[in-house]
Amino acid sequence: MPIPVRIVLVDTSHPGNIGAVARAMKNMDLAELALVRPQSFPSEEARARAAGADDILASAVVCGSLEEALAGCGFVAGASARLRSLPWPLMTAREAAAKVTAEAAGGTAAVVFGSERVGLSNEDLARCHVLLHIPTAPGFSSLNLAMAVQVVAYELLLASDTAPSLAPVREKPLASAGEMEHFYVHLERALVARGFLNPDNPRHLMRRLRRLFNRAELDTNEINILRGILSALAPDVPPGPG
Ligand code: SAH
Repeated sequence: MPIPVRIVLVDTSHPGNIGAVARAMKNMDLAELALVRPQSFPSEEARARAAGADDILASAVVCGSLEEALAGCGFVAGASARLRSLPWPLMTAREAAAKVTAEAAGGTAAVVFGSERVGLSNEDLARCHVLLHIPTAPGFSSLNLAMAVQVVAYELLLASDTAPSLAPVREKPLASAGEMEHFYVHLERALVARGFLNPDNPRHLMRRLRRLFNRAELDTNEINILRGILSALAPDVPPGPG
């Protein structure tokens, strides 16, 4: 059975990289690939670079948004070459691989990779529980996209070999990426309605709150309690979808 971790590529511009990612994944026993707005897919170049990992390309899911690509996922790590203005919980590839494989034992987990040119946006990052960084030489931290996937996939393979049964003990499964997004929409509406958040001057409030709640690794029961609290405190605010 392949390792149950989804690899998500956002805004990939070079189809050759998509092929090389498929190859790296097949080498390391990963099978689930999601492509968010790939510039060119399917493509002959991707097929050539996949070097026989055609099944990974054939089953790759093309999505219009990161939210769609993360549907049903619990734990999400975002791979980034850079440190951010608003610091996010940070793990090395090795630490993150151990966490991601442990979480995957209890549900679906994902690692998200950014585009060749600009990497992950802050908005993408806000959907991640942790930021995964591959340590590099100082001052030259940006790996080729497919090579970054290769390193992470290798770490996932080693981690899943050594720690097959370390699923965290939870009463309920981790809230899914979609449930978290619905909660953030509800929370933002309530904060605006009660005048705590000024939509004309939001600063980093929502991102800070996302960091706080992502850190708590909320389960499905806890997210329902929070949604219920919002509805009780702000009954006039439409809770939105979900
Ligand atoms: N120019 C971009 C980097 C793009 S590299 C930037 O400055 O952010 C393409 C993708 O590969 C990145 O978005 C990231 O997901 C991954 N990547 C590259 N180097 C990495 C590193 N050192 N650690 C973790 N991920 C890395």
